[in-house]
Amino acid sequence: MRQHRIQLAESEMPTRWYNVLHDLPTPPPPVLHPGTGQPVGPDDLAPLFPMALIEQEVTNAQYVEIPGEVLDVYRLWRPSPLYRAYQLEKALGTPARIYYKYEGVSPAGSHKPNTSVPQAFYNARAGIRRLTTETGAGQWGTALAFACAQFGLECEVWQVRASYDQKPYRRMMIETFGGTVHPSPSTLTAAGRAILAEHPDSSGSLGIAISEAVEVAAQHADTNYALGSVLNHVLLHQTVIGEEALLQLARVGETPDLLVGCTGGGSNFGGLMFPFLRERWAGRMSPTIRAVEPTACPSLTQGTYAYDFGDTAGTTPLMKMHTLGHDFVPDPIHAGGLRYHGMSPLVSHLYETGEMEAIAKPQSECFAAGVLFARTEGILPAPEPTHALAAAIEEARRCAETGEEKVILTALCGHGHLDLPAYASYLAGSVTDHEWGDSDTQAALQASLARLPQLS
Ligand SMILES: *Cc1c(COP(=O)(O)O)cnc(C)c1O
Repeated sequence: MRQHRIQLAESEMPTRWYNVLHDLPTPPPPVLHPGTGQPVGPDDLAPLFPMALIEQEVTNAQYVEIPGEVLDVYRLWRPSPLYRAYQLEKALGTPARIYYKYEGVSPAGSHKPNTSVPQAFYNARAGIRRLTTETGAGQWGTALAFACAQFGLECEVWQVRASYDQKPYRRMMIETFGGTVHPSPSTLTAAGRAILAEHPDSSGSLGIAISEAVEVAAQHADTNYALGSVLNHVLLHQTVIGEEALLQLARVGETPDLLVGCTGGGSNFGGLMFPFLRERWAGRMSPTIRAVEPTACPSLTQGTYAYDFGDTAGTTPLMKMHTLGHDFVPDPIHAGGLRYHGMSPLVSHLYETGEMEAIAKPQSECFAAGVLFARTEGILPAPEPTHALAAAIEEARRCAETGEEKVILTALCGHGHLDLPAYASYLAGSVTDHEWGDSDTQAALQASLARLPQLS
């Protein structure tokens, strides 16, 4: 009998996160203090993060034990299912075997609670009372509000103005979980007021919202900041995805030839890929690893590898990463989670050292893939993972021509039930593709790259 859904028992859930830093062939460049240009130390990060997370940011240990309190919350939805996409394969007429790890079963409907839960736990244990954060479409805000509710913390979220106005449902979900939401830019912070003074109608960006949340956390001793992607400890927490997927594939006797994932800040991608990289370095498999980003925000394929700020106002430490420049404002595509100017330093380093490849896809091709996936597999994907699906489908079609029986694994990192207006817009024919090469975009990119911080 063919097995569509490959499920692990609760007792088989991994009990430790995998730290890719331990096994990297070359170490990544250090994070720098923007004032001194010197590597940051724990004291520099202490106003924003609890010591347990700062340690996880820099640790060289190969594995980190998942606390029992975190495992208890993970058990609400983990282990998540791995599916073989039989119906999609049939529609494509491909000999490829396509597997997807589905993270949409979480309370927020995405992979984000894998890290929001431990982040809230470590902050609560350190005596913190409130967490601040930013959110785009609302996925991260929802995940953090849920996690704060689990551990008795207040949660205050700055949501990118455009999404606050156009996508009210995740805001309602954040409020239901007990969080507070402000549109960003807001008048509550110096960073927000500075943007509004110059652009009163600003539709906001993730970089601006980060500046606001960081500012409030830095000013209050009982308040910390939580980031939903990019940082090493976030990617560490997400490795539960890849560890489970390894066990599930082993159960059906498969090893992947190709792994594809979408990259915004790199966390669902890193979370799936890192345990497979470990297996590749150990010589147990040799999959190709491919990141997929939107053509409207192509930090890996078109950005520069340089030290840059994580936020727009230029207040965070400097990270060496693939970036379009911290004040680059990407086109308002529907995949809000992929509209970040930078990229995880770990993923950037792996790309730079040739451990993985990257491609960019226009959103119309991605929506077409999302609709085909919904009609075949019955799950309506979030706009972000449709980028990975488009790349998986592209490869499966190639296999249909060559007859190759490739095993393809992708992360279906969230469902799109609260992104239905985006699908409505696609079905009505009003989703357009951004011309990355046009002169306005190129001029904006050159201008923002010219404002990269200069290191002496
Ligand atoms: C946040 C989000 C992303 C982008 O973030 P990564 O850190 O790159 O994973 C992608 N997909 C979904 C569903 C998200 O919520």
